[in-house]
This record gives sequence, C-alpha cells and structure tokens, in this order.
Amino acid sequence: PVRTRFAPSPTGYLHLGGARTALFSWAYARHFGGTFILRVEDTDLERSTPEAVEAILEGMKWLGLEHDEGPFFQMQRMDRYREVVAQMLADGTAYYCYSSPEEVEAMREKMRAAGEKPRYDGTWRPEAGKTLPAVPVDRKPVVRFKNPLDGDVSWDDVVKGTITISNREMDDLVIARPDGTPTYNFCVVVDDWDMKITHVIRGDDHVNNTPRQINILKALGANLPLYGHVPMILGADGEKLSKRHGAVSVMDYPAQGYLPEAMLNYLARLGWSHGNEEIFSMEQFCAWFDLDHLSKSPAQFNHEKLAWVNNHYIKAADNTRLAALVRPLMEKDGADFNQAPDLASVIGLLKERANTTNDLAAAAMLFYRQPMPDAALLEQHFTAVAATIKPAVADFAERCKTVEWNKPALSAMIKEVLAAHTLKMPQIAMPLRLMITGQLQTPAIDAVLELFGRDVVLARLTKFL
Ligand code: GLU
Repeated sequence: PVRTRFAPSPTGYLHLGGARTALFSWAYARHFGGTFILRVEDTDLERSTPEAVEAILEGMKWLGLEHDEGPFFQMQRMDRYREVVAQMLADGTAYYCYSSPEEVEAMREKMRAAGEKPRYDGTWRPEAGKTLPAVPVDRKPVVRFKNPLDGDVSWDDVVKGTITISNREMDDLVIARPDGTPTYNFCVVVDDWDMKITHVIRGDDHVNNTPRQINILKALGANLPLYGHVPMILGADGEKLSKRHGAVSVMDYPAQGYLPEAMLNYLARLGWSHGNEEIFSMEQFCAWFDLDHLSKSPAQFNHEKLAWVNNHYIKAADNTRLAALVRPLMEKDGADFNQAPDLASVIGLLKERANTTNDLAAAAMLFYRQPMPDAALLEQHFTAVAATIKPAVADFAERCKTVEWNKPALSAMIKEVLAAHTLKMPQIAMPLRLMITGQLQTPAIDAVLELFGRDVVLARLTKFL
C-alpha cells in the first residue's frame, strides 16, 4: 500500500513550495487509495515555534489537504530515536566518537589543504584488528553512523533519474549529539522507516540528504522508499521564489481573495502536467496524478495565471458561498446592508469580471453605500444639459412607478423614454448611474435598476428632480 508523507519544519508559515509538495504527496496517496501522513519536524528547537505549527495546520486545512495519520511530532518521538541509536551501537552500525569539535575541524582543514573532500577521518571508527585511542576523561561522545567505505549509493529518482554517489565521498554522519539528542537526517530516517513510507516526494533542496538517509536505512535493514525530488518554484525573474515576488505564504491568499480550489488547481500545474489541461477538480487531479509527469525543470510562479484560475473558480462558485466571503470585507468598508439588494444576486451580476473575492467586494460596494456623485460629473451629465435631460429623467421616474420590475421590462421602458425625448442611451444612462449609484462605471443599467428595486431607485432620483 502507498504511504506518503508531508514533513514540514515548523519554522514559519506554510509556503507555496511546501504546499505544492504536500499536494503531490496527498494526491499520490489518494490516487492509490493509500495513506497520507503529516509529520511535523520540530527538532530544531531554536527555529521551531508553536505558532508555526498552527500556521501550517491552518494552511493545510484551508487547502483541504487532509491527512490520514498524524500529525506526528518528532519531539514526541525522542525515546524512539534513542532506542534506534542504542540498537545501532549494539549491532555495530554506529559508534561513539570522542573527537572534539576542534579536532574534527583540524582533520577537515588538513584534507582541504591536501585537496580532498573534507570529512571525518575515522579516528574512532572501529575496524577489525584496529586499536582505538584511549577514551578521554570528561568528554561526552557523539554517535556516528558507520558509512560503507566502498561502493556507491544509488537510487532511481522518480523526477531526476538515476543518481549515484560514491561512498568514499560520504562522511560518517553524526546521528546523536553529545547530549544524546538525535540529528535531523537520523530522525527523518527512523520516521520514514517506522511510518512505512513508500514514496518520499520532497523539494530538491533535500537531494543531498538522500544518499545519507539511504545508507542508514540499509544499515537498519529497512525497505527503501522511492524518492522524487521536485524542483524549486521560481519567481517571474527566474530567481528562487521569495518574499520579493509577493506573497509566498499560502495563508496570504485567502486574505487577498483567492479560493482554495483555485490555489490547489494552480499549484497542481506547477511542475506537473496532463496534456494541456489547465482547469480540473481535485478529484480529477487525484485520478490523473502520477510521478512520471513531474517536470525536471523548475516551474515559474505566475500571478496573472493564478488570478485567471481564480476567476474561473469564482465564476463557478455558488453565489451564497461567495457572499459569505465578501460580506465581512464590505462591512469593514462600511457597507450598509439595510434596504439594499440581496448580496448573492449582486455577486451573480459582478463575478464574471472579478479575479478575487476582494475585487468582488470592492465592486459590490456600489450597491451598499449612499451615492455621492462627483459634482463635476453631475454638472457635465445632468445640470449643464438639464434642459434636455431633466424632462427625460422625470419621465423615466414617472414610468418607474408602474413598470413591471424586471430587466426586460425596464430595458424596454428606457427605450421608450429615449424615443420620446430623441436621446441616445448614454445621455440617460450616465445621469441615471450617477444619481442611483454615484459612479459612471457600473454593470448594465437595466441590471443595476433591477437589483436596487423600485423604491430605492425612486427615492434616489427624486432628490435630483
Ligand atoms: N522538514 C523538511 C522541510 O521542511 C522536509 C524533510 C523531508 O521531506 O524529508 O524542508
């Protein structure tokens, strides 16, 4: 059975790159009816915070990437790591090393000077027939992994192809510090082993850890997972995506008016493709997702495309759901919902052109505040031309009292007014827009009238007549 994991370090927010790796791991598990595990790698005590844990869980929840097991916390598994260290010391796959940090640095310096790759020189590494130095008093040892001296470590990376590293290039990795705490790579290995992970999908910033992890897994007699290292996400300028490129935290996006399904759909296409398909549901994605179509080259984050995808999902979304998202924003902007048109209907009229729910909130404000037309515009479109326009507006207002209140009837009535006063559409539509909404840019006048309703329209026009 397929078992995948997302293993964030809680040192900040859930960033876009992390969310995308999580999405791939989640979808892979879903594709095979497998298990998706959430594991919090919180052993870096200086950089991990409970707030970051919360932020990551919140981001995963917003995206709907539900885990089947976990969250597991590495800090709660310390006893288990110590147990495995003890086991490895007992079976000879790890050893105590009493070299001081200064001594290790001196070794490395010497190798560098000799033009070799700097590494631990094996002073404390037990070998058959070798006598180890006397144990220094009052010095706590680290525990090192006994990395094979010969041969290669090799794996078929599902993204990058076969990667082979010579064991001679590799250090005897420290797996436990002098105080007994396990090190990063070691915790990952024990977890992937215990959690029976079958596929490790992660960012390619971890590719250098993989040969070390594989060697330790082998020493433990563990089954090796398949590894896939996904290239970084780049900004539009080709540099690694960072704050300079705008929001990189997933949770900045709901605040900017993005829908989770749009974010998921967009992230799914960053570094993975299925022909030319751009818009698809997560159900469809999970059915399609495979590791063969992960891209070897880095993907570029494109805000315009994300906005386009978001617009698609806004158009597809239920108006009542959008209204619930938009309403608090509008309340903050002082929207008055008394006596005003139904918000869901307003959204239905406006959403075609909205890239974000924030756009939608801003556009909808027109229906929920007192109109305050700009004096100069009113002068231009009404007062200065009052001789011709005022009688037409008055006629319009009069007909409003009896016309059937729906778009086609309103539209027909406006045409009658235009004919009766030999005017063109903008000559009446512009002053009406100003008087009723306070602005010139609005959706079609008949749609606007219909939504405001007879009473509001009449009340607003009367002030000018
Ligand atoms: N904790 C690592 C990170 O946040 C991921 C480790 C892994 O996936 O193996 O970058």
